[in-house]
Order: sequence, then C-alpha cells, then structure tokens
Amino acid sequence: MLSGKTAIITGSNSGIGLGVARELARAGADVVLNSFTDRNEDHELAKGMSKEFGVSARYIKADMSKGDECRALVERAGGCDILVNNAGIQHVAAIEEFPVERWDAIIAINMTSAFHTTAVALPGMREKGWGRIINVASAHGLTASPYKSAYVTAKHGVVGLTKTVALEAAGKGITVNAICPGYVLTPLVEAQIPDQMKAHNMDRETVIREVMLERQPSRQFATVEELGGTAVFLCSDAAAQITGTTISVDGGWTAL
Ligand code: NAD
Repeated sequence: MLSGKTAIITGSNSGIGLGVARELARAGADVVLNSFTDRNEDHELAKGMSKEFGVSARYIKADMSKGDECRALVERAGGCDILVNNAGIQHVAAIEEFPVERWDAIIAINMTSAFHTTAVALPGMREKGWGRIINVASAHGLTASPYKSAYVTAKHGVVGLTKTVALEAAGKGITVNAICPGYVLTPLVEAQIPDQMKAHNMDRETVIREVMLERQPSRQFATVEELGGTAVFLCSDAAAQITGTTISVDGGWTAL
C-alpha cells in the first residue's frame, strides 16, 4: 500500500515511534529511523527492519532539541512523503519546582521540533501533490493532569500546529493530523512510575491501576501496534479527507 513512499519517524528507536515505523514498513514504506544517539544497535534496528519487511530502512542521528538538527534530518533523508513527529520526553513536578531546563527541553523536543521538520518536509510534499504529516500528540493535547505543565503545554501546542499546517496544505493532497494516545506501556511511561509512586505515596501496582489507568476507562494500555495501525490508516486513500484533526487512541479517556 505504501511502496514507493518514504517515511521519517522522529524518536523511533523505541516505544511508539518504533511501533509506528514497523507498521509503516510492514505496509511497504521505506523508513528513516531517528534518535539522538548513534549506537551500533540503532543502525542494526534499521537493518533488521529492512530484512524483515523488504523495504529500505536507514537510521539518521539527529537531536530533536536542536532546530538545525531537526532540519538536517529531513534534508539528509532527501525529503519524505510521510513525516511522523513522535520524539518526546516527560517530566513530572509541581510548577513551583519544575526545573527550567526540563521545561525548555520538553517544549523543544515535544513541540518545536515538529515546526522545524514540517517546515522542511512540506515543500517536497507540495511538489509531489501528496503527503502525510502525523503528529504524535497525547490525550494530554486535549486534557490536562497536574504536575505535567510542560508536557500538557507542548502537546496542546502540537494540536494547534496540526490544525494550522492542515489549513496551509489543504486541497494539495497533503493531510496533517495528530494521534492522541492515552497510556501506552513504553519506556517513557515506565520511567514515570517511580515519580508517580513518590508523588502519590503508592506502590507500583496501585499507581498503574488507580492513577495511570484510572483515566482510561478500558483499564487497558494501548499498544504500539495499535498506534502504528492508526498511522497506516491515516496514510491510506480512505483518510484523504481527514485533515486538521485529532484521533484519540485512549480507551475512552477523553470521553469522560
Ligand atoms: P519512548 O521514551 O519509548 O520513546 C521516545 C523516543 O523519542 C525515543 O526513541 C527517544 O530516543 C526519542 N527521543 C527522546 N529525546 C530525543 C531527542 N532529543 N532527539 C531525538 N529523539 C529523541 O516514549 P514513547 O512513549 O514511545 O513516546 C513517544 C511519543 O508518544 C512521545 O511524543 C510521547 O509524548 C507520546 N505519547 C506517549 C504515550 C505513552 O503512554 N507512552 C501517551 C501519549 C503520548
């Protein structure tokens, strides 16, 4: 379905980004994986995907906290047909104690990186008359939780960027949408558990059941394969008129 298309997925050496890259490759897209590290295993990940799905797969190191590296990623990839802005980090703290450098890093990686990559990727999509931009936002792009001020701010910003770029690209074969996952068990969520245990004075299992999945009526984590499947759908012809909107994959969180 996606053969002949090239997809860049930022932050794709683990978690949702890796799941999305795998599903796009399974659908036939050539993929460009990314993170800020440059380890053998990063490149091996791409090689393995190429072998498994019979597509071209490359790994390009770029730090999404730096605007020039975000732009260089798209340039080094030679542009793309599908851009998935997924890189993201989290920090949990009350606003009075929120470290300024964590605020700046979250805004840069989770939000501003999408501005830079989109600005460089869009002209090529316009020339081809086809493109898909998929921003991995969050249920926290639509609602808030305490102690996540930078993350909630950045994700609401990503939803705003999604709508704006969709309008700028409308009618040109290019769609721009945000996927809003609820809780997906990935390293990012795993890393939040100790902070949440401390903030709520609870053990691990109670935090998972009563704090994390308390907002998710299904009481089930979404999977990275489900997120990847949603991205593949947004790349399909059936989704050609879906633009400037959000798709929640959150077990009913935002219906509450
Ligand atoms: P993860 O920690 O497994 O993956 C994050 C990815 O971003 C990794 O590949 C990491 O290397 C990369 N990354 C981090 N800093 C980077 C930087 N400076 N430059 C380049 N890459 C960088 O986490 P995840 O849960 O898979 O998160 C992926 C996205 O999904 C994030 O935007 C996150 O906010 C969003 N999200 C996750 C959940 C969830 O429950 N896991 C829910 C909603 C939204």
